[in-house]
Amino acid sequence: MSNSLDGKVALVTGGGGGIGRETAKVLVDHGARVVVADLSEDAGNGTLEYIDGGDAVAFVRADVTDLASMQHLVQAAVDRYGRLDIAHNNAGIELTGPDLADVTVEQFDKVIAVNLTGVFISMKAEIPQMLAQGGGSIINTASSLGQSAIAHQSAYVTSKHGVIGLTRAAAVEYSDKGIRVNAVLPGVIQTPMIDALEETYPGFKDALLTKHPIGRLGTPHDIAEMVAWLGSDAAAFATGSQFAVDGGYLAI
Ligand code: NAD
Repeated sequence: MSNSLDGKVALVTGGGGGIGRETAKVLVDHGARVVVADLSEDAGNGTLEYIDGGDAVAFVRADVTDLASMQHLVQAAVDRYGRLDIAHNNAGIELTGPDLADVTVEQFDKVIAVNLTGVFISMKAEIPQMLAQGGGSIINTASSLGQSAIAHQSAYVTSKHGVIGLTRAAAVEYSDKGIRVNAVLPGVIQTPMIDALEETYPGFKDALLTKHPIGRLGTPHDIAEMVAWLGSDAAAFATGSQFAVDGGYLAI
């Protein structure tokens, strides 16, 4: 089975950010046509500039917390490229700081709304199109914090554990209909999200380094190649699973 993405059409949510931007590029490099989706128009357009992929890439502003917006995104992909084979549901936010008892209900709900309900909404919008065309591959971005926990991240940790459950539930329902559903679990990846945390908590990055036996933080490219493989026919028997790309984070 080939790991080429020739002829395939993909969408990437959070496609303006660190991991999503690189994933969109790698998908194009492997032969896919890609719709980059993000809440931020500037970030999305930045990705188009970064990829420089001509007609093979387009940006559509979309909000993963809004079903109508996600349905519009899927329709835009179909209108432009004819189908939807790969969906990388990757948009996410983090909340670091307060211990659990000091997290407000609003703060907790907001993280869940984007990171977990956003993945549910994304799949709800994508699956009908994939069923109509006979299949597809969905890759949800969870985290090593979907299988472990650190302090001060209760909402985030909860959301990412939820993404793994949702991924498994969707795989059980749709794998025999040609839709494979998997989760990618990045370790700590050098992205703007991590830079923002380092600004708030100087020394954060060095502390996290000790949790990666491989001796470095990840790059967006490390994750993008896994997403490209999961999206390809080479991964034809992979569904309902969690693929850690984490420099050994979960091995400790
Ligand atoms: P990032 O902040 O660089 O990018 C996230 C993107 O999501 C941004 O462009 C943002 O505009 C977009 N976004 C936020 N809310 C949105 C919404 N409601 N609708 C659509 N787009 C929205 O972050 P990143 O590091 O690239 O993270 C991408 C994913 O990887 C997230 O789900 C994150 O939780 C996960 N992750 C990141 C790391 C890491 O170390 N960076 C580790 C594990 C998992």
